[in-house]
Amino acid sequence: TPTVRNYELDRSQIVLSAKIGVGQFGDVYVGSYTFPVSAKSKTKANDSALSNSDTKYDVIQVAVKTCKANEDPEKTENFLAEAYIMQKFDHPHIIRLIGICSIMPIWIVMELAKLGELRAYLKANSDRLSHATLLKYCYQLSTALSYLESKKFVHRDIAARNVLVSTPTCVKLADFGLSRWVSDQSYYHSTPTVALPIKWMSPESINFRRFTTASDVWMFGVCIWEILMLGVKPFQGVKNSEVITKLENGERLPLPPNCPPRLYSLMSQCWAYEPLKRPNFKRIKETLYEILLEDSMNASE
Ligand code: ATP
Repeated sequence: TPTVRNYELDRSQIVLSAKIGVGQFGDVYVGSYTFPVSAKSKTKANDSALSNSDTKYDVIQVAVKTCKANEDPEKTENFLAEAYIMQKFDHPHIIRLIGICSIMPIWIVMELAKLGELRAYLKANSDRLSHATLLKYCYQLSTALSYLESKKFVHRDIAARNVLVSTPTCVKLADFGLSRWVSDQSYYHSTPTVALPIKWMSPESINFRRFTTASDVWMFGVCIWEILMLGVKPFQGVKNSEVITKLENGERLPLPPNCPPRLYSLMSQCWAYEPLKRPNFKRIKETLYEILLEDSMNASE
């Protein structure tokens, strides 16, 4: 059973400032988190005992998710579920959990992605973003997803809207509200209560609510497409109910402008109708790395 006991934070160490977003449970704020750093640990052993009690403080900017449904135990459980999931991960391209305040009002404190949502960032900087940078974002996300794959985690909502930007050269996967742990061979059948991201979903997810690492791979193919399209959403003007017929007729998202043929070929493999024919994330990561290298060599010629 998951525990976040050592993640409990003292609310007095956190000061909220501007509201930066709206989540399904409540508003998201930027905040500052002040925490003690032991001066002792930074002092060389022969530096005398003077600094033993010398506590220094560090301040970092954080993102704080709040929950408006504080009185409803079922809602607060669902809200905190994301924190339980995030605490298991430690990866440079996955938003880190810093801690929680589990007493009302409940807060989830996370690493702040200073530049916000990827889709908005892509749209705002479309004329400045180089091709190499977009490829780099895809590669970084593939390392995060390969890590999740190794931990037997299925995310179930891989899409550009769930990627945040830390720096102009660093993106991170966020939003673990839908992810579920699965054992090696099994898969998770979703409850049909949440609105499903049909246009990102694999045929088996649409038809049978079957979510596996292979269906995450399909979704990542769509996410790569969104990145190369600079934040355009897939299947614009198509009704959700029409998507499965198109996919079953062999239709797929079109080649984005300036997309290296090798990358489109990789995306197309992610969209193999048969889940077993799709590459795994380890393979995708390796292929993206090669494409990145190839691209940088071509650019320097
Ligand atoms: P939904 O399920 O509808 O996506 P949610 O409850 O999962 O909502 P998030 O999407 O995680 O909420 O957060 C809402 C918004 O707050 C994000 O779209 C983003 O703009 C902002 N936000 C969330 N987490 C962070 C973060 N760590 N750094 C910067 N901004 C963040």
